Amino acid sequence: MTIVPKVRTWAEKAETLSLEGRLFIDGDFVPAKSGAVFESVNPANGAVLAEVARGDAADIDRAVATGLRAFKSGVWSRMAPRQRMAVLYRFADLVEAQMEDFALIDTMDMGKPISEMLSVDVPLALTCLRFTAECVDKLQGTVGATAPDVLSYVLRQPLGVVGCIVPWNYPLLMTMWKIAPALAAGNSVVLKPAEQSPLSALLLARLFVEAGGPPGVFNVVNGYGPEAGKALALHRDIEKIAFTGSVEVGKLMMLYSGQSNLKKISTECGGKSPHVVMADAANLETAAEWAAMGIFGNQGEVCCAGSRILVQRQILADFTEILRAKAEAGYRPGDPLDPTTGMGPLVDVKQQKRVLDYVDIGKQAGAHCLIGGGVPEGLEKGAYVAPTIFTGVTNDMAIAREEIFGPVASIIAFDTFEEAVAIANDTSFGLAAGIWTSDLGKAHRFARDVEAGMVYINSYMNGDMQFPFGGWKESGNGRDKCFDALVSYTQTKGVWATIG
Ligand code: NAD
Repeated sequence: MTIVPKVRTWAEKAETLSLEGRLFIDGDFVPAKSGAVFESVNPANGAVLAEVARGDAADIDRAVATGLRAFKSGVWSRMAPRQRMAVLYRFADLVEAQMEDFALIDTMDMGKPISEMLSVDVPLALTCLRFTAECVDKLQGTVGATAPDVLSYVLRQPLGVVGCIVPWNYPLLMTMWKIAPALAAGNSVVLKPAEQSPLSALLLARLFVEAGGPPGVFNVVNGYGPEAGKALALHRDIEKIAFTGSVEVGKLMMLYSGQSNLKKISTECGGKSPHVVMADAANLETAAEWAAMGIFGNQGEVCCAGSRILVQRQILADFTEILRAKAEAGYRPGDPLDPTTGMGPLVDVKQQKRVLDYVDIGKQAGAHCLIGGGVPEGLEKGAYVAPTIFTGVTNDMAIAREEIFGPVASIIAFDTFEEAVAIANDTSFGLAAGIWTSDLGKAHRFARDVEAGMVYINSYMNGDMQFPFGGWKESGNGRDKCFDALVSYTQTKGVWATIG
C-alpha cells in the first residue's frame, strides 16, 4: 500500500508556527525593560497573533549601546570584507530555507496574499541580500593626484550605529532594503519595525546571528513610533536614520536630526503616482493589466502605486471597461492564506476606515464610484475594502492629491500629451510615473519631463537591483536597492600625508 503524504494547507502550516515576540538585543531575545507588551492582530479575522514586547526609550538606549560596543570592537566593522560577505550569503541561505515561515508570518501580520509573499516579497528580499553581499568588496576609496611629496587618499568607512525605521506594507522587504546595505557596509543596526507588522524582523535577526553575524550588530526593538521610533531618531549615538514611511513622519526625522546630533537622514516616503495611458498604446489589455496591478496589487498599500490613472479621452470608455474587468477578475478579496486569493485585507481596521473615508470624500467631491467603495460581502470580520475605481476625477480633488494607501484608483481624463505631463507633475509627490504609448519620442519626452524618481515606459513598478528606488519632491531623498544605496551607508575620510 502506498502512503500518500497529506498536503497541508497554509492555514494548517500556520498552526505549527511558533512566533517570537520579544525584542532582539545583543544576540538574544529579551522582554522590554518596562515589561509592557502590545498585541499583533491578524487583519483577516481580528484574531490576536502574538503579544509583542513594547520597547521604549530605555530599550532603545540598551540596543544602541550594544550596537556601539559591537561597532567599536571591530568584530563586524573591521571584519575582512569577504568574510562579511560569507556571513551575508549564509544569512541569505537561512532566510531562503525558512521562506515559508516568512511568508506565513507577514501574511498573517499584515494581510497580503500568501501567493504574493512567495512570488514577490521573499524572493525580492533574497535578491537584495545576495546583491548586497556581492557588493561588499566592491566599495573602494580613491587616491588623489597630488605633488610627489604628498600622498592623498580617501577612505570609505562605515558610519557607526544606523537606525532603520520601516513601514508595514512590505515588512520583510522594506526591512531588507535597509538592513542589508547597512550591515554589508560594516555598520551596526537598530531596527524599529512598524507596530502593525513586528514579527518577521525578529526571525530575521535571529538568523543573522545563526549565520555567524556577531551578537549586538543587528538589534530589533519593536514598539510604537512616537515612543521607540522617536527615541531612536533622537539618539545621539545613532549616525544615520534610514526611514521608509509617510511624508509626515519623514519630516519629523529631519526635525529629530536637528534636535539631536545632525545624524544623516534618508527618507523614502509616499506617493500619488501618475500612470498615463495614451490612445496610441500598443495594447490596451496589457496596459490595463499593469494599471490594475499598479493600484490593486498588495491591496494598493504600495508607496509607488499608480493611484492616478490618466487616460486619453478617445480611449477612456474602452480602457475603463477593461480595467474594471481586470480588477474584478484578478483582485477578488479573500482569505490571504488561500493561494488563489488576489487581494487580502488591509493592514488593520484603522487603515480600512481611512480608505473608506476617502471613498466618501471622493463621492462628495462629485467623482463617480464605478466599482467597489465598500466592504466585500461575507468578509466583514476582516479589514477588507473591495477594489474601487473612481471615474470623473479631476486633479484638484482630494482623492487625486492625497495618498490613500488602499485599493482606490482615480481615473483622470486628458486630451493632449502636454496636458498629461502637466497633470502628472501637479502634485507634491514625485515617486514613480508610468506611460503607455507606441510613440518613442513621447515616451522619452515623458521620462525627461516627469518629476519622479522612477519612470516606467510600457510597464509599471518594474526593475531589478540596479534600478535605484526612491523619489523626488516630498516622496523623499533616499535611494534603496542599487549600489548607491550601499555607498549611502558609508562616509569618506580624506587623508593627506606629507611623505617628504
Ligand atoms: P508611518 O510613517 O506611519 O510609519 C512608518 C514607521 O515610522 C513605523 O515604524 C512607525 O512606527 C514609525 N513612526 C511613526 N511615528 C514616528 C515618530 N514620531 N518618530 C519615529 N518613528 C515614527 O508609515 P506607515 O503607515 O507605517 O507606512 C505607510 C507609508 O509608508 C506610506 O506613506 C507609504 O507611501 C510609505 N512607504 C514608502 C516607501 C518608499 O520606498 N518610498 C515604501 C513603502 C512605504
